[in-house]
Amino acid sequence: MANQSGPVCRLCRREGAKLYLKGAKCITNCTFDKRSGLLPGQHGLARRRKASDYGIQLRAKQRARRLYGVLETQFRHYFDRAERSGGVTGTVLLQQLERRLDNVVYRLGLAASRREARQLVSHRHFIVNGRPVNIPSAQVRPGDVVEVREKSRKILPVENAQQLVQSRAVPDWLTLDAEHLRGTIVRLPERQEMESAVDEQLIVEYYSR
Ligand code: SF4
Repeated sequence: MANQSGPVCRLCRREGAKLYLKGAKCITNCTFDKRSGLLPGQHGLARRRKASDYGIQLRAKQRARRLYGVLETQFRHYFDRAERSGGVTGTVLLQQLERRLDNVVYRLGLAASRREARQLVSHRHFIVNGRPVNIPSAQVRPGDVVEVREKSRKILPVENAQQLVQSRAVPDWLTLDAEHLRGTIVRLPERQEMESAVDEQLIVEYYSR
């Protein structure tokens, strides 16, 4: 299973926005505000040039990819499927990203970040409809039930999740049984319930060049 690796705070600086890739640390110990405006790397102080249309579209695509932790090939695959779906391409693309199992675990508040959710899923700490699933990119459907495995309830990140779920608002397309660390997918997410930091129109323009 491939995923984005390496230092992640530089990804926020590259995209010029907080992507919340490190969970609780993003709230308590984030250096982004002090270093925003700086690009990552040795020449971070260099003045940003005015971006071309292509540059703006590319950044929109990269930001979405990094937010959800998806590699280029898989992102392209999501786009192609969205384009063939017959629906609104940008919306269907975002819905596929939201329906990833790691994202649903994060949205339910059962992990502090999508990165942590991906790790917990790949270590088989979750079951979907009663069966263990260790594929973070697995697509969930309305009616599916996602829950923490009984024997995983005592591991530290999941114990932390029990505190997290008290403070996080769960979007309306999901419901959470906090006592049993169990979530249900009620329906597909609507646009306003998905990432507001993503501009899907620019992504569609990027792939339609
Ligand atoms: Fe790092 Fe999180 Fe801050 Fe981004 S939001 S710079 S990942 S601590």
